[in-house]
Amino acid sequence: MRILGFLRTSGVTWTSWIRQTSPVVGVEAVQCMRSARKDSCRRNANFVGFGVKSERMCDLKKVRSCRSCSTQAVRVKCWRCKHPLHDSPVFFCSACKVVQPPGDGASFFNIMSCDVSFAVDTKALQRRYLQLQRSLHPDNFSQKSVEEQEYSQHQSALVNKAYKTLLKPLSRGLYMLELEGMRIDEGTDSGADADLLMELMEINEELAEARTAEEADKISRDTKGKLSVLTEKIDAALRTGELHAAKALLAQMKYFSNIEDKVKEKLSDLM
Ligand SMILES: [Zn+2]
Repeated sequence: MRILGFLRTSGVTWTSWIRQTSPVVGVEAVQCMRSARKDSCRRNANFVGFGVKSERMCDLKKVRSCRSCSTQAVRVKCWRCKHPLHDSPVFFCSACKVVQPPGDGASFFNIMSCDVSFAVDTKALQRRYLQLQRSLHPDNFSQKSVEEQEYSQHQSALVNKAYKTLLKPLSRGLYMLELEGMRIDEGTDSGADADLLMELMEINEELAEARTAEEADKISRDTKGKLSVLTEKIDAALRTGELHAAKALLAQMKYFSNIEDKVKEKLSDLM
């Protein structure tokens, strides 16, 4: 355990070491910050989840509170023919069939026609995604009015984000906690007790020392096993409304998801 010796002598805490060696700011977070800069709703783009600015959370905030944005305004009538719109979310007017701007209040689960559940049927999610994108893709609107082009772009982007958020267990679980009004604040490190941090360090060390694809593959299988057990536990906690337990388990899932990403990188290096 060379790392442990290093930590003892350097005064670096386990938590900060794990953060440094398992960077948690992923592509999504960077994209979020980029898109937030372009977005007129930038005041809503600073949600911090596990110390990570999250595209998913930015969206949730926008959907919930960005009433001042022209494309997110609450509409109960078709913008074109004024026909009343009852569904939420509504993508097209039932009377004139024209694409509508994204409305306020529809959750990603509503958008993807899923029950609010951690045990999402990912095949059904994918079918719904393809079905929505077939009708909403901006390419279909290139000959239409400026409004229709703009609304289709916004709807299509929203569907993309809803799909991406619900597809992965980690982002799905964090989103569910957010729907329940729970914030995952920076620096809490919930679920990261000493035993877990020790285990993570050992896995990281093992991964750093892996010299063959077989060695890396074994770590990959072990990590998948851990994630599978965590998925079951998180599902059970969310079903019974144990939100704090779910939050702690999601924190653990985040650590193992980071390891999974690192194993993938290692495997591609070894191939
Ligand atoms: Zn209409």
